[in-house]
Amino acid sequence: MDHNLTHTLHYGWWVFEWIRFYDTENWPKIFRLQEHIERFFYSASVLGIEIPYSIEEIRNACIETVIASKVNAGYIRPIAYYGYGKMGLFPEGAKIETVISVWKWGKYLSDKAIDVKISHIRRIHPSTTDVKAKITGNYVNSVLVSLDIHKQWYDEGLLLDTEWYIAEWPGENIFFIKKWQLYTPAIGNLLPGITRDTIKILYKEIFGKEVIEEKITPDRLEEFEEAFFVWTAAEVTPIGSITTEDGKKIEYSSGEAGSISNSLKNTYLNVVSGKDKSKLNWLY
Ligand code: PMP
Repeated sequence: MDHNLTHTLHYGWWVFEWIRFYDTENWPKIFRLQEHIERFFYSASVLGIEIPYSIEEIRNACIETVIASKVNAGYIRPIAYYGYGKMGLFPEGAKIETVISVWKWGKYLSDKAIDVKISHIRRIHPSTTDVKAKITGNYVNSVLVSLDIHKQWYDEGLLLDTEWYIAEWPGENIFFIKKWQLYTPAIGNLLPGITRDTIKILYKEIFGKEVIEEKITPDRLEEFEEAFFVWTAAEVTPIGSITTEDGKKIEYSSGEAGSISNSLKNTYLNVVSGKDKSKLNWLY
């Protein structure tokens, strides 16, 4: 346990990744580890945290921690932070600590299509912080939304940005479907996830088209036939309904998982579990 005066505890000034590994026929395998570690270093650079190891060393340390844990499927959480030795806002001089944890944890969200609500809390603005980085302080915004939404008995919240465009969920990116075409909010006010990138690649391979990335206003929610969100932990989770801020409920696929969402979900699960042999280069 770190000292009470650990700099990070006071100012939310640390970075993390949320990585998943799966039980495959060839030992546990970590999905897109390289990209996660690259983002970890990017996030650290935003906060001026100089991780005293190379990308390769952290990547290998993740693999070794999974092996040592003897867990077949679960999560990896590398963190880097300013430790004990400095109080006050300016962190330079505090020791940089790097820790990797591995734990077993099942599904983050239910297998069923979930019900979500647009929160009255807006997504943090990119002029106030780097929204592309996984910086702990940014997640105050996400946790506030989660608290608000769960009090209202919805499964998850949806954030608009400060210009009232759809941004993302507290920890997930969103896709919509209309006439076999996928849409997702353009980057700028959101964290462009690795799962989002994976879905863009898989969609192009299966359907031969690019995902349309554009600003999407909430009044367009009714024009879509299906919706789903994506994140390392929640994988591909179909959305059964979205309730707007003023309480209007928009149902997708009669509240069930839509057929294209389901097919992308199955494709994704085959890739992460190594059943799809064409993507073994994403497994470490
Ligand atoms: N948006 C936010 C705000 C997130 O925190 C995350 C990760 N939890 C994502 C999107 C999805 O990122 P990834 O697909 O890389 O897990």
